[in-house]
Amino acid sequence: KPKDITELPGVGPTTAEKLVESGYATIEAIAVATPQEIAQATGIPLQTAQKIVDSARQALEIHFKTALELKKERMSVRKITTGSKALDDLLGGGIETKQITEFFGEFGTGKTQICHQLSVNVQLPEDKGGLNGKAVYIDTEGTFRWERIEQMARGLGLDPDKVMDNIYWIRAINSHHQMAIVDQLFDMLDKDNIRLVVVDSLTSHFRAEFPGRENLAARQQLLNRHLHQLMRLAEVYDVAVVVTNQVMARPDVFYGDPTAAVGGNVVAHAPGIRVQLKKSRNNKRIARIVDAPHLPEGETVFAITEYGVRD
Ligand code: ADP
Ligand code: MG
Repeated sequence: KPKDITELPGVGPTTAEKLVESGYATIEAIAVATPQEIAQATGIPLQTAQKIVDSARQALEIHFKTALELKKERMSVRKITTGSKALDDLLGGGIETKQITEFFGEFGTGKTQICHQLSVNVQLPEDKGGLNGKAVYIDTEGTFRWERIEQMARGLGLDPDKVMDNIYWIRAINSHHQMAIVDQLFDMLDKDNIRLVVVDSLTSHFRAEFPGRENLAARQQLLNRHLHQLMRLAEVYDVAVVVTNQVMARPDVFYGDPTAAVGGNVVAHAPGIRVQLKKSRNNKRIARIVDAPHLPEGETVFAITEYGVRD
């Protein structure tokens, strides 16, 4: 029974690479596609594409799970507190492992602050809302500040040096580097007790390197591949993946760019939870859940203080 696309009959390494690059990274994605579509997107001959789609559909048929199994899978998901009870409640208890959570919003809405806070909080013991784990921080904009980690650690009464020692920071210099780093993580997460991977920001390099609508398809394809990579990482290693995405105040000005037009939902076709952030008065911020299947729609207010994210 094939578990991923490389195990489908007729899919060798080169074909697998083409499929993944075109966004067909899972058996599910292939099973719901048409052979024509796959042939066109990947350059694989139509006949081969037909065989691959057939075997993907066959493989899926045996993938029934009982509702109880689904429940057990859900129960095995673990959560990291954000530091705000209200925000945790909105998220159904906190940031989940085995899942991508996207924070999107304008500049200064607190996306980076939340990423810093989670990198600290993941280290807390389980009864304090943490996972006793370490964090990886992929910084694409150069906005990571160890000084802020120090403040947040003090705010929780933790030893700042110990906390900083458990956060692995790396600056991603371009989109290619960003994706190569995540590839590397598949080896790293095996050995170390990493429970959180932050990508702040997911989209900035991709936007800069593929500007305008004429580059949109290429950009989306790469972003899709990156997201699938992150999704696998989350599922295989039981880590929480948190990504940020800066969007413009007036998406209507940027129509033609679907990621802006739909409110910046680049993760729209990947599983995950999307949280929109908005500024409110002073240090208050508003968080709103955008179409999460298992969470009620709603919004809440939290604060960014000297000591980090709070109610
Ligand atoms: P973005 O969404 O662009 O990533 P940030 O997460 O960088 O936004 O949020 C920046 C905001 O966080 C600042 O405008 C400020 O309100 C707040 N902030 C940053 N550092 C501190 C601090 N040391 N004390 C209090 N608030 C802070
Ligand atoms: Mg930021």
